[in-house]
Amino acid sequence: MATRWPSYGTEKGGRERELARLQDQLRDNERIWAGFRRIEIGMIGARTPREVMAVLVNEIPQTFSGVDGVSLVYYDPEYEMTRLLEADTEPAFDESAFVPISLDGLNSLFAPSWKPRLVPGDEAVRKQLFPGLAWTPRSVAIAPLVLHHELVGALNQASRDAGHFVTGQATDLLEHLAAVTAMCLDNAVIHERLKLDGLTDPLTGVANRRFFERRLTEEVVRWARQGGPLCCMLVDIDHFKQVNDRHGHQVGDRVLQQVAVLLGRDRRGADVLARYGGEEFVLLLPGTTISQGAAIAERMRAAVASEALAVPTGQPLGVTISVGLAALEQGSGPADKQVGARLLKQADAALYRAKKSGRNRVVSALEN
Ligand code: GH3
Ligand code: MG
Ligand code: MG
Repeated sequence: MATRWPSYGTEKGGRERELARLQDQLRDNERIWAGFRRIEIGMIGARTPREVMAVLVNEIPQTFSGVDGVSLVYYDPEYEMTRLLEADTEPAFDESAFVPISLDGLNSLFAPSWKPRLVPGDEAVRKQLFPGLAWTPRSVAIAPLVLHHELVGALNQASRDAGHFVTGQATDLLEHLAAVTAMCLDNAVIHERLKLDGLTDPLTGVANRRFFERRLTEEVVRWARQGGPLCCMLVDIDHFKQVNDRHGHQVGDRVLQQVAVLLGRDRRGADVLARYGGEEFVLLLPGTTISQGAAIAERMRAAVASEALAVPTGQPLGVTISVGLAALEQGSGPADKQVGARLLKQADAALYRAKKSGRNRVVSALEN
């Protein structure tokens, strides 16, 4: 948004008019930001590339007046994104909005620099960037999608209004939206790859036990080499059988999904969260000591205990969790096969003590 300074009128009522205009402008800005945040949150919550595309294509034109069409051009040499988009039909979006492009084509859009561009629209632009549009855009915004320092695509917006996207307007919001888009698409692709590998739990969407075991081995090796601490926690939902018995397994399933979300919130990139089995989850936190881990676990426990979980039928309900944790402290020895198993066993013994001592609590493994 370009900032315009008020010019105070000298005629009677000029000040009031100016004030009213400023207030309108403020309200417009607030609306734009609120819409922008909604789109951003929608994309961050997206699990599949389809969901990301649906947010972009369906919601941007709905949210911002003057934007009449959206497309994404994408360099997709192995057709991975294309295949992932075709794997499903839900949620629906205009499929012609996804436009595979050659690397040369993509690079020529942003020479000499990877900055958003606001340009007039014409038939050539329509053909290249918006082949699905039945009308010729009069002005367009093209924002580069950059991932790991590589140009991978562009997020394009078309307007019927020649004055909507014009050179000289600020493009920081566009740049931000493109950055979030690139990151969310990448996340969604990684998520789908995991699923295809059979390493994700289909109910909760978090990693499964097999994935966890693989990562545990890797992290133990890293710990032995680099000597950083490595914290492991086992999380078990308290009296979960009663949830199923009282409300049915569908409610139980929904509770499991929401607990998984709460446990995954605020996790760092290197952290692993997996469903270990049934109503039990496991977390692996590289670089985390047992006392740091205990503080994290306590925040998770409190978060779950205070959350009203939405369920398909009836009132929201609350559950609690018990957590047992153990850690490999800094620089403590060779990475033989038993190290990971011993770590898990210690966490399990701590979990057992948490259950024994009343549930809804965090217990750390005893000192060795
Ligand atoms: P505790 O506090 O001692 O952990 O008690 P609990 O009832 O949670 O433990 P228990 O091991 O007796 O029961 C676990 C229950 O979890 C039993 C099982 O039916 C339920 N469960 C396991 N997997 C699923 C699932 O995928 N969906 C649903 N709805 N329930 C599940
Ligand atoms: Mg259990
Ligand atoms: Mg349980």
